[in-house]
Amino acid sequence: MTVLGKKALNKQLSAKRVSWAGALAASLILMPGILAGNPVLAQQKAERNSLTYGELIKKTEKGEVAKVELDEAEHVAKVYLVGQKDTPIQVKLLEQNTELINRLKEKNVDFAEVSSANSRAAVGLLINLMWILPLVALMLLFLRRSTNASSQAMNFGKSRARFQMEAKTGVKFDDVAGVEEAKEELQEVVTFLKQPERFTAVGARIPKGVLLIGPPGTGKTLLAKAIAGEAGVPFFSISGSEFVEMFVGVGASRVRDLFKKAKENAPCLIFIDEIDAVGRQRGAGIGGGNDEREQTLNQLLTEMDGFEGNTGIIIIAATNRPDVLDAALLRPGRFDRQVIVDAPDLKGRLDILKVHARNKKIDPAVSLDAIARRTPGFTGADLANLLNEAAILTARRRKEAITILEIDDAVDRVVAGMEGTALVDSKSKRLIAYHEVGHALVGTLLKDHDPVQKVTLIPRGQALGLTWFTPNEEQGLISRAQLKGRITSILGGRAAEEVVFGKPEVTTGAGDDLQKVTNLARQMVTRFGMSTLGPLSLENQSGEVFLGRDWMNKSEYSEEIAAKIDAQVREIISNSYQTAKSILEQNRIALEHLVDLLSDQETIEGELFRKIVAEHAQVADEKIAVSH
Ligand code: ADP
Ligand code: MG
Ligand code: ZN
Repeated sequence: MTVLGKKALNKQLSAKRVSWAGALAASLILMPGILAGNPVLAQQKAERNSLTYGELIKKTEKGEVAKVELDEAEHVAKVYLVGQKDTPIQVKLLEQNTELINRLKEKNVDFAEVSSANSRAAVGLLINLMWILPLVALMLLFLRRSTNASSQAMNFGKSRARFQMEAKTGVKFDDVAGVEEAKEELQEVVTFLKQPERFTAVGARIPKGVLLIGPPGTGKTLLAKAIAGEAGVPFFSISGSEFVEMFVGVGASRVRDLFKKAKENAPCLIFIDEIDAVGRQRGAGIGGGNDEREQTLNQLLTEMDGFEGNTGIIIIAATNRPDVLDAALLRPGRFDRQVIVDAPDLKGRLDILKVHARNKKIDPAVSLDAIARRTPGFTGADLANLLNEAAILTARRRKEAITILEIDDAVDRVVAGMEGTALVDSKSKRLIAYHEVGHALVGTLLKDHDPVQKVTLIPRGQALGLTWFTPNEEQGLISRAQLKGRITSILGGRAAEEVVFGKPEVTTGAGDDLQKVTNLARQMVTRFGMSTLGPLSLENQSGEVFLGRDWMNKSEYSEEIAAKIDAQVREIISNSYQTAKSILEQNRIALEHLVDLLSDQETIEGELFRKIVAEHAQVADEKIAVSH
């Protein structure tokens, strides 16, 4: 305990010097305290004479503040209240204090920024070094003597506050589009935060937690910010993964810190992103549970129970894996409201595009509706990214406004990655041409298949060549014939290689195709009941062990059935492969013609492709239906 006394003394000493050297000394001297292992006590001592950031802002508004000295480097301010000119109060600042500074300016409060690194510091440093050196030596002595090094770990939770606070998010519901139902539900939360009396007056209990469920990029974070923005309350955010640390108990202490800060700033909104990182079912996974995660989760549950609904704190959590969450999180009184935030439909995509087009120069000839039609499956984040890519391309091409050309290129880029340069003429370029035309030709000649949009030999991302099919608008349900058609056209690439070059010459280029095909066929058998095994569901969609599922009960069928599944999968695939091969063999003339054109031009658009097929193909007008 003697160490503690010394530390407090030194702290006072260094508080008087606002110089770089002083700061150094303070941080050095803090270390033995860590080793002695009771940082909490010291903390309390220092905080007795202090204000929070929120209180400071309030006091400024009321005109109770006479003078403020800001030290942005150290994140503290010395506040002189009216009538207490010689007893300054320490206030912890945030990373950005624009709001405070604006208020101070507004109220004409005398404030000065004390820079920690002024020129005097250099001289001061020398002088200070004289007495720091013995201190350092002393400290080393302490270090060596300390046998209980593990207590260092105790400080992790406290020393790093990992959550962020935004006093004003500036996001409004208008900035979020395409999720109308979710917005409607959340409008109520805004009212809870703004006028809780309306609910408490009639005896309603205000819900504490809302869980936003949806795939990444659909605007969950944005929605949470919009709620805070609409209600005009501070926004605290932390990611679930930031709770999880190596040391047991750190996450729990972060949860406590977060709630403590939130209570000081109520009414406010706490946003926990990726809550599945802490909120997974307890006791799941290989080898039982994870102590640290479970403690963190328990702490979170305790904190949520600990405050009454009427304190004005609302917790919003986001996840894309609601299925792995612990049931205790979802029961009433915790995250009892669940709001689905799904990928937008056509109208939603159009609305999102409108939001993001607001601050961009777009050629009037570009129809946002057409873009929305071209992008089924895109999330809000994809669409924002798409328009941004288009804007970058426009700037690079030195154009005045974004045209449809940039949009098209941007869509391709968002879907398939960066464009590379085409191969020079070679045997492999020719082989890739056959492979791609194989996909496109089989797809075109099959009934029940989406039309070809374009075929290209210009590499993108991982792919050396690409065949694009126009997706059907919002295919909610896919038929067995469509699935088989898809498998057949994907196999068309490898089939073309074999038909043209013979079995020994086929390449690794089809690896990705084969994986896709195998997945599709397997799902047809085990999930959709589309094989002779009958309408059975044999596998769950999600089986990842590490996401909180037990791996023991993964397969629910016997080995006999497993063998049958494999046989069915193989049959679907070999059947489709035969179909693809025979289509290509029968249309060899069209194939050769298209490959010549593609090698020469590097890209063939869908319309031209279909025209050539119609001219040359033997079975063009009577499309092939997939057998079996
Ligand atoms: P999530 O948290 O669901 O993964 P975000 O909220 O972080 O997604 O979205 C990322 C970005 O994508 C947002 O900042 C915004 O620019 C854009 N975005 C996503 N969804 C929407 C939407 N519904 N409306 C407008 N913009 C959106
Ligand atoms: Mg997010
Ligand atoms: Zn392929």
